[in-house]
Amino acid sequence: MRGGELGYPGTRYFGVNICVHEFSHGMMNAGIRHPDPALYQAILDAYASAKAAGLETARGYDCNTAGEYWGSRVPMDPYHARVAR
Ligand SMILES: [Zn+2]
Repeated sequence: MRGGELGYPGTRYFGVNICVHEFSHGMMNAGIRHPDPALYQAILDAYASAKAAGLETARGYDCNTAGEYWGSRVPMDPYHARVAR
């Protein structure tokens, strides 16, 4: 793990919980893809629609893959109150 993922002050991830984001990837890949292919396809479709529409939610890092689109929708700041930077 690099230092930024630990959420130390002065890093990109200060004030957020990367563990929750990474857990979301596990949910999508192990808990949704095969057990619920319809939901998995819905995630892929939502990603494709957001990207085609040029939505802000599908730009930058979030638009790399459907997995990152999904993972970026999961709040990494449980109290929705990011620490001021
Ligand atoms: Zn990710």
